[in-house]
Parts: sequence; structure tokens; C-alpha cells
Amino acid sequence: MRVYELAKKKKVSSRILLKIMKELGIKGKVAASSLSTGNIERISSHFKEKKPPISSTGRELSSFVPRAPIITLMGHVDHGKTSILDTIRESRLIAAEYGEITQHIGAYRAKVNERELVFLDTPGHEAFAAMRARGAQVTDLVLLVVAADDGVMPQTVEAIDHCREAKVPVVVAINKIDKSNTNIEAIKKELAKLDLAPEEWGGKTIFVETSAKTGAGIKKLLEMLHLETEMLELKADPKKSGEGAIIEAKMDKREGKSISVIVKDGTIKVGDNFIAGGTFGRVRALINEEGKNLKEAGPSTPIKILGAESLPLPGDAFRVVDSTSKEIIEKKKLPAQKELKRRAPARVTLEEFFGEIKKEQRNELKLIIKGDVVGSVEAVSESLKKLKVQEIEINIIHQATGGINESDIMLASASNAIIIGFNIPLETKMKELAKREGIDLRTYRLIYDVIDDVKKAISGLLKPKEIEETIGEAEIRRIFTLSNGRAVAGCLVTKGKVLRGGKVRLMREGKIIHQGRMSSLRRFKDNVKEVATNHECGIQLEDFNDFKAGDLFQIYQIRKIVKEV
Ligand code: GDP
Repeated sequence: MRVYELAKKKKVSSRILLKIMKELGIKGKVAASSLSTGNIERISSHFKEKKPPISSTGRELSSFVPRAPIITLMGHVDHGKTSILDTIRESRLIAAEYGEITQHIGAYRAKVNERELVFLDTPGHEAFAAMRARGAQVTDLVLLVVAADDGVMPQTVEAIDHCREAKVPVVVAINKIDKSNTNIEAIKKELAKLDLAPEEWGGKTIFVETSAKTGAGIKKLLEMLHLETEMLELKADPKKSGEGAIIEAKMDKREGKSISVIVKDGTIKVGDNFIAGGTFGRVRALINEEGKNLKEAGPSTPIKILGAESLPLPGDAFRVVDSTSKEIIEKKKLPAQKELKRRAPARVTLEEFFGEIKKEQRNELKLIIKGDVVGSVEAVSESLKKLKVQEIEINIIHQATGGINESDIMLASASNAIIIGFNIPLETKMKELAKREGIDLRTYRLIYDVIDDVKKAISGLLKPKEIEETIGEAEIRRIFTLSNGRAVAGCLVTKGKVLRGGKVRLMREGKIIHQGRMSSLRRFKDNVKEVATNHECGIQLEDFNDFKAGDLFQIYQIRKIVKEV
């Protein structure tokens, strides 16, 4: 008999039973561990002595009920995530418990042993991390799919890094076992090296061998997912007002603005007022995945809601509120677009890092390292790990070869990490995304420079970078000499504008003749602050008189930046 089977018999959760086993000194770490007859007897007599059995937390908090786990599939491309999702969905249809699915709402439910499991429809790391970056930890459990004929690949490692950062438990499906060229033992070995050791080797991770093509192992997979989540003891209080997270938001031709929400706690009812990210609304209709209209939706239900004023973003928090709540009133005043802009996240940069250490807000620097080849990525990461200044820990949450991608940026955003690119070009699209997410993304060519910057950052020596911004250009047309002997350059502004406070560079035949400050800027007889393109003006410099017609003034300013993207 296995731990979970005995737990069921004794009407306690596997977790409680494992606790009792620990007290009694009985070996077994996981719900699937098997028990000898002798040990079963010892546990049973423990239950007889101690009546009633140790209560689970559910008893103390009476309105809490178990809720179904929300599961996301992750793994390398083409390893079978979509196929597994489809196979589960189909077997669910065959079971005919739910009737036919008529609606796509971003998630669906499957039943195993009378208990529900909720699967998010979008497999992949970007979506997972993007949700986390917005503050919604929707996923309770990750199903990591690894193809038996391909093994651990870069995105497998990436997925594991994401899960570790999110502290989400993982169940592994070794898929495509119907293929002939598989080496399952080797895959287990590789995964064990990445902290996912299978139970039979003394680890904690459940492995299930599946084939989405033949359906082999899918039923067992569902059972194991159920088992693993039983250990999580997920609970919710359906009596509370509903809260959850947005999983999809779209404009529907027929229904208008439609948002899909997964309820994480409480109950959402028709007529409820809500806020969701930057928007708000009133629940006009609740529609489930079969297209049925519901009056209310409880914990772990994926549900489509009509009635939002504008579209929130996936991962935005959803919350039922009073119509007179301050939040709703404020949201009504502020157009949604502005609100979205206002929420630009504040992430740490290398330059700001030291300040946060000083304020004791941080003693760990999280980094993501991407590079051109394995050797350089390892060299950078090894040298960084060796840096130790004032108890600051350098935590490399993800390292890989290849360009910086969306998944890296979302992981950085969700975990407040800095990205270091080594010897790789940077796509403009990624630069923009990093900027939007407020991520400090740096590219380097020399290992020395990476180490130097990080070292300076953690010891507070990294100074903000300065960049030059051109404001305008003016060409000298005529020179006037004043009675005090000083020269005034009569100019035409040819580009941008001339600012009195601006810094000036004087160019002659492409060479810099002088750099300095303006002492006066005049238009006709008047002192002015600025002069625009195609207007004439008179410029005097603080300590330079030797102008020539045809010289060019470049007006610029220096801006300090703490983030360099
Ligand atoms: P995803 O990128 O991880 O979502 O992978 P897909 O589900 O799209 O599957 C990629 C390819 O592998 C498709 O051609 C599937 O038909 C195939 N595939 C998925 N699961 C299995 C399986 O268990 N056995 C075999 N032989 N092929 C599979």
C-alpha cells in the first residue's frame, strides 16, 4: 500500500500522514512511497491511540474548502505540451461529464477520482512569467513535458528555472514513449542533476511516462497530478467575495469586451462590481467553458465574464469590490490607458542596487546570463558566483546560450532580476520590451567588464551613466564685435533649437574647436531662453571669441541615466 492510499483510508491528507510517519520514524518522503505491512500496522495503532486523528487545517478554519489545483504545462518546443492538453481534453469529453465544449475561455477542467483539475490553455514560459510579472501566481503546479526521444533541451532547463523562481512544484511527464529511440533512464539522470530527482531514487519528483499519441499513461498522469496537489492542501473560502486573475482578455464580435478569469478565492456573482488591473466593471454575465450562463462561480473555476469597461492584461488581479469603494471611484475618473501607463513597474538596476542594500531592502542580486557559447556563459557565471562583497549573494536564476528572448525578460520582470547579455546582439523588439517592463538589460563584450560592473554595483561604486542628447544646431553667418571687445556670433538655427542653458560645442570643418557654455542668447535686442529652427539669434560664449562665419554650434545636454537599455 502507498502513503496516499492509506491516507485516504484514514481520512487524512497525505501530508498529515507523512508528518505522522516522520514522528514515528517511518521512512517515506512522498505520497507515492510504499509502506510495509509492519509500518501500516504501526501507523494504524497510532490512529487508534490518538482519536480523533490529527486534524488538518481545514477543520480549524471551518468555511475553508479544498479547491482544485491550477496546472500549467511547460517544456521544450515540440515535446508534446499541446498534444497532452488535447488528449486530456478529449478524454474528458469521452467521459461525457461536461458535455461538449463550446467555448474557449483560456482554461478547462478535467475530473479524476471525483476531484477536479484545472488546466491553463496556454502552455509556455512567457505566459507563465508574464502572469507572475503582473503579480498573479495563478499556477499551483507545473507539468513539465520532456520528450523521451529528445531529452532535456534548453527550454526544459529554462522551464525548471522559472518554476524554481516561482517556487511552484513540478510533476514530470516523459512523453512520446511510443517512439523507438528513447532513453528514459538518461533523461531521469539529467533531470536529477537539475534538482528533479525521481522518487525511486530518493528524490521528491513524480515522473509519469506518457504518450499523447496513443493515450498511454495519461490516466495515470491525471492521478499523479491529483496526488501531488493533494499534498499542497489548497484551500479557499467560497463565502468571501471573489478574487482571481485574468487569464485572457479580448474583444469579441458578438459579446464585446470579454475577460476570462480564474477564481482563486471566494465567489464571483452576477451583478458584482469588480476591479481588474487598470479597469473596472460590473458582472453582466458569467459563462463557463460549455457556454452555460452561471449565477456564480466559486474557487478554481475558469469563467468568462462580460461587463468590463476596458480590457485588462493577462495576469492582472481581479477583485470584487463595493460599488462605492474608493478604488472604483478612482478608476472611473482615470481613463484605463493612463492607468496602465501609470503602473510601469519599478525594477532594480545595477546602479540602484547599492541603495537598496543600504536600506536593507535587499541582500541578494538576481541575474540572468545569456551568452554566445556555453563556455562564455559558464565563465561569466562562475566568475560572478565567486564575487563576495559584504554578504551580498549573487543568485544566477537562469543562464543559457542564445539571444535574449521574451521569456528571459518576463522572468527578470517577475523575479526582479537584471539581465546580462554576453557577446550577443540585442534585438530592438527585446530592447523595447525590457524598457516597458523596466528591466535593466546590459550587454557586454569582455568578461572583465561584467565582473567589474557587478563588483562596483554591490559595493556602491557604480555611477549612473551619462549620455549626451543633442538639442539643436546653429550655423554662424556673421560676427559682430562689441565695444568691450567681445564677439557675438550671429547665427541661423538649422536644427532643433538653441537653449540658453545648454552646453555648446563649436565645430569648424568637422573638427571640434571649442567646448563650453553660452554666456548670452539674444534674439534681436532681447535676452531669450531659446530660439527655434529657422530663426536668427546672437550667441556669446563664456570664454571664447574667435568665431568664423560657417562655424557650426552644436547644442547638447548631458542626462544621467540609471537604466541603460
Ligand atoms: P508542443 O510544442 O510542446 O506543444 O508540442 P506539440 O504538442 O505541438 O507536439 C509536437 C509534435 O509531436 C506533434 O507533431 C505531435 O503530433 C507530436 N507528438 C506529441 N506527443 C506525442 C507522442 O506522445 N508520441 C508521438 N509519437 N508524437 C507525439
